[in-house]
Amino acid sequence: MDQLARKTVRELTPYQSARRLGGSGDIWLNANESPFANEYNINCDRLNRYSTCQPAELIAAYADYAGVRPEQTLTSRGADEGIELLIRAFCEPNQDSILYCPPTYGMYAISAQTFDVGTKTVPLTEEWQLDLEGIRDNLDGVKLVFVCSPNNPTGNLIKRQDIETLLDMTQGKALVVVDEAYIDFCPEATTANMLDQYPNLVVLRTLSKAFALAGLRCGFTLASPEVIDLLLKVIAPYPVSVPVTDIAVQALSPAGRAKTKFQVLDIGANRAYLQAGLGMLKNVTVFEGYGNYLLVKFPDAEALFNALWDHGIILRRSPIENCIRISIGNRDECEKTLAFIREQLGQN
Ligand SMILES: *Cc1c(COP(=O)(O)O)cnc(C)c1O
Repeated sequence: MDQLARKTVRELTPYQSARRLGGSGDIWLNANESPFANEYNINCDRLNRYSTCQPAELIAAYADYAGVRPEQTLTSRGADEGIELLIRAFCEPNQDSILYCPPTYGMYAISAQTFDVGTKTVPLTEEWQLDLEGIRDNLDGVKLVFVCSPNNPTGNLIKRQDIETLLDMTQGKALVVVDEAYIDFCPEATTANMLDQYPNLVVLRTLSKAFALAGLRCGFTLASPEVIDLLLKVIAPYPVSVPVTDIAVQALSPAGRAKTKFQVLDIGANRAYLQAGLGMLKNVTVFEGYGNYLLVKFPDAEALFNALWDHGIILRRSPIENCIRISIGNRDECEKTLAFIREQLGQN
């Protein structure tokens, strides 16, 4: 059977999602999920009918939330599908490339590889900012430049001025895709308000993180109407199901938005608690994080990660040496995690 598959697929290593990595425990802080499970009404009246490709009600609700126009808004099966649509619409297989700046989100590379699109990397600087000169030197054949802000897994924001420089540098040659999966935790940092000024800007959004709907699979791509029209040529006919639309519209209603705001504040307080608590420990560095997670450096991250794992506290290893990424859970989860780490480090 293996021989029947495309060569690219045979050689592909799939994304190591938190779910795929398994583990067993009672504290799951490895996938940047929200600790809140909110209730929604589900209406079964229309389930005999196909959904519409881009439900107008959902597009209008998200455009209003993001402060953009409906024709600048596309909805898809999570932001991950947005990444895939951009690659399929803009990159010629075996010819064009995407460029991204590690350490960052893993799906850009995996989506590109799946479609035989090249990947170029220009690592972030020591301050985890864009290496603009390095990017400038590597733009040949690049159609999409992915910038993640707040960056996963480091947690920092990419400087707005640098994103503008990048947009100017790539004008007419490539799109700059700013992945704002975590922007609802720091909404003032959005680049969505630059869309009218930069036709080559694309912004990715999701309901998976602050809106506590990772299981729903609903994301958004914000871009110029020309880009949106091209993406609509390659999208599946019914990407967003009727129940997904119903739930997403409730989440984006005034009451839903107020609830999310409240939960973002709650998570922010827990993040501050964990940041302060871990920051007090000797030989531990907590990097400032703007999303619902913190990157933390320990003297021996591997041993600590395994001890936590065995104790039922499941965190995420990071590719950065001796660093562990901790999603911000509820206060009880944060307290238990902090207490166990202190004990392990002999600092309780
Ligand atoms: C979680 C995440 C996504 C994926 O979002 P979905 O809408 O769940 O597909 C995209 N980008 C980054 C940086 C993420 O952390």
